[in-house]
Amino acid sequence: MKYISTRGACPAVDFESALLAGLAPDGGLYMPETWPQLSVDDARRIGRLPYAEAAAEILSLFAAESFTKEELSAMAADAYGTFTDERVAPLVKLGPEDWMLELFHGPTLAFKDFAMQILGRLFDAALERSDRRLTIIAATSGDTGSAAIEALKSCSRVNVVVLHPEGRVSAVQQRMMTSVTAPNVMNIAVKGSFDDCQAIVKTLFADDGFVRDVRLSGVNSINWARLAAQTVYYFTAWAQLADGDEAVNFVVPTGNFGDVFAGYAAKRMGLPIARLGVAANANDILHRAIAHGDYTPASVKPTASPSMDIQVASNFERLLFEAKNRDAEVLRNAMEAFATNKGMKIDDQTLEAIRKDFISDAVSMEETLAEIARHYKETGALIDPHTAVGRAAAIRLRETGRLTGKIVTLSTAHPAKFPEAVEKATGETPALPDFYADLFDRPEKMERAPADPEAVKSLVAKAFAN
Ligand SMILES: *Cc1c(COP(=O)(O)O)cnc(C)c1O
Repeated sequence: MKYISTRGACPAVDFESALLAGLAPDGGLYMPETWPQLSVDDARRIGRLPYAEAAAEILSLFAAESFTKEELSAMAADAYGTFTDERVAPLVKLGPEDWMLELFHGPTLAFKDFAMQILGRLFDAALERSDRRLTIIAATSGDTGSAAIEALKSCSRVNVVVLHPEGRVSAVQQRMMTSVTAPNVMNIAVKGSFDDCQAIVKTLFADDGFVRDVRLSGVNSINWARLAAQTVYYFTAWAQLADGDEAVNFVVPTGNFGDVFAGYAAKRMGLPIARLGVAANANDILHRAIAHGDYTPASVKPTASPSMDIQVASNFERLLFEAKNRDAEVLRNAMEAFATNKGMKIDDQTLEAIRKDFISDAVSMEETLAEIARHYKETGALIDPHTAVGRAAAIRLRETGRLTGKIVTLSTAHPAKFPEAVEKATGETPALPDFYADLFDRPEKMERAPADPEAVKSLVAKAFAN
């Protein structure tokens, strides 16, 4: 399997190169040259395997030229062995046609661990083979950073730099990042928004000299390997609840469009998925795009679901590429016009293609807190605000007849990662798991920088230049 750039201006590469590069050199995102195809029977067989085995099977469809099945099996067993629930991604029934897929049983209590735990191991194996080192840089709205740090802190060949918007991540998220004091880990609090952090990362990647000096690479959800790993739980969930070849819906709390795009990839591989519901918070650019064709960033509004406080959703480019029939030239022009005009009107033909697979809704802060309270009253269980955005959207999409049949809502974080919102909605304080009981007593390590690429560059170069 080769990987091509959505912008079409650089050569196709293998899985390992796409893994190590993150962003393609022409500024595009890597995509598999073709979608691996599974029959429904294969999808069911794989989906019913123990989670780590299912992951190894699916990853080998994408990575067979770079890693053997045995290597992938060993890495997946290690990666998903860090999860505290042996089912890894348990499915909880909420009603006759409603389920919740719990994706928060990993070491940093959010779904990012699914991708990051395997990514760390893939990186180590690849770098070991070629005797290289890398500096990974990531912008985070909270969960990617902690997941990356946790997965990479013990990698001997990787430095990790994580930029987060100062004061805009939850106290638990911040502590999970800054309490890791390993010498290869650098946290930078940036005075600005997540989009500012993401823009700084893009600027750094565009600086060839800097990329060479620190051997820069990325683990944001632009990295194809992450999306490949995230397709797995769509298979395992579907296999547990579908009757025969029945197509089911998934509703996904969405920020950077990575998680829901993994669902789209699963569908393209042959998994019977009816619709993918994009659930946005008050930062509703993706809802405006899908419902009205208006892909125009507004300013970022801080909400109770900070990991979705994003306006420019990097992975949306992957969907546009597909919806425009993989015409890289058309896409490149569209993305250049988007950058110049600071927005994009999606044409009817592209929109029609998108709506075959996607439907969307946006959920306000009040509705999010109301859903946490409603869910608690009805089930006695606490859910985190991101999950609540998903559930509120799923309920409304069903009530208004826009989704019918079985719906699985992805539960993307543990409620204790966002205790402030949960407390406000229910009066209850969700408890952190025992292994984080002393989180607020651990020493912190963190740098501060203005929203200026040069300031970040000099911090990173000072610590990690060769
Ligand atoms: C990252 C994140 C999301 C959004 O996922 P995307 O892949 O960026 O769309 C939703 N919920 C939580 C808890 C997250 O950490």
